Amino acid sequence: MYVPLLDLRAQYTKLRDKIKKALDEVLETQQFILGPKVAALEEALAAYCGVDYAVGVSSGTDAILVALMACGIGEGDEVITSPYTFFATVGSIVRLKAKPVFVDITPQTFNLNVDQIEAKINSKTKAIIPVHLFGQSAEMASINDIAQRHNLVVIEDAAQALGATYKGRKVGAWGDMACFSFFPSKNLGGYGDGGMVITNKKEIYERVKMLRVHGAKDKYKHEMIGGNFRLDEIQAAILLVKLPYLDEWNKQRAKHADIYFSLFKQAGLLNEIKPPVVDSANTHIFHQYIIRASRRDALLSYLTKHGVGCAVYYPIPLHLQPCFRYLGYQEGDFPEAEKAAKETIALPIYPELTLIQQEYVVEKIKKFYANG
Ligand SMILES: *Cc1c(COP(=O)(O)O)cnc(C)c1O
Repeated sequence: MYVPLLDLRAQYTKLRDKIKKALDEVLETQQFILGPKVAALEEALAAYCGVDYAVGVSSGTDAILVALMACGIGEGDEVITSPYTFFATVGSIVRLKAKPVFVDITPQTFNLNVDQIEAKINSKTKAIIPVHLFGQSAEMASINDIAQRHNLVVIEDAAQALGATYKGRKVGAWGDMACFSFFPSKNLGGYGDGGMVITNKKEIYERVKMLRVHGAKDKYKHEMIGGNFRLDEIQAAILLVKLPYLDEWNKQRAKHADIYFSLFKQAGLLNEIKPPVVDSANTHIFHQYIIRASRRDALLSYLTKHGVGCAVYYPIPLHLQPCFRYLGYQEGDFPEAEKAAKETIALPIYPELTLIQQEYVVEKIKKFYANG
């Protein structure tokens, strides 16, 4: 048997006719940039998240970049974020010549440890970027509280968490701004790159919209220096077909997580591996299903050899990346992020995964530990 980490074809097979029809509509209009599909997707996504405004952009990375630009982050500014995230969160800060300041994660959720944030705030601090890692919200009430007290902007990196909730409200509706990604492997994935910035603030919305088209509100009159951060009409058309299915897909993922838990328990594996922990304030959408495993690297090669797709997100925390050496961090600075990088492994969790496939994954894990 082969159980891939992600099977996009399973989803495409079910949606093929609708996708082809939507693509055909775009081809017939011959309008490829910022047309009616992008506008419709922006409206639908804002409504879905319960916010006033959304701006479709070229990627999740560009969403973070343009969000930071829209609040004027630049040289000399400091932005607090997690060292245990995808590179884009921190890369975007540095591209604007601002300084990323890391705060360690909590071992339960892999998200920012809110008790450690305030100690890192000084007069240069301008923003906090909480990352809702693997599909589970960071502690937004505490983060907003801290931000309010210190007059900081909150930009949610919600690239992995579209549809997740915190205290009953969608992620993305908590911060001043939030960023989403439609990279094909995300829970709502396009057929190429894409992203979205959402906000309740009109001034920010206007600025992001301008920055998306080289800082021009009226054509060829540039109020600010932006970039080409536009979302393609073709991507928007595909995403509009998929969005109505998202909640069902997210529920399927959560159901698979429950099944994994029962199977691990039945197999007596809860000493060797630690399944994900969901904070009681959260609904987790399981963008990734991440376990902690003893002898992680050996398990990874064993599963790969036996046809189980798995991966490590992320093997090197950002404070230890070669390109950030100049920041002066060392091994030991963020022990929980470093521990997570050594212990975690992602298992298949996509919506169409079958019980037989899950049983196979768990059987292989059991064999691995039984063989010592
Ligand atoms: C995927 C991702 C991004 C970047 O999105 P792209 O669309 O790939 O540019 C940013 N942050 C996190 C946490 C992500 O998972």
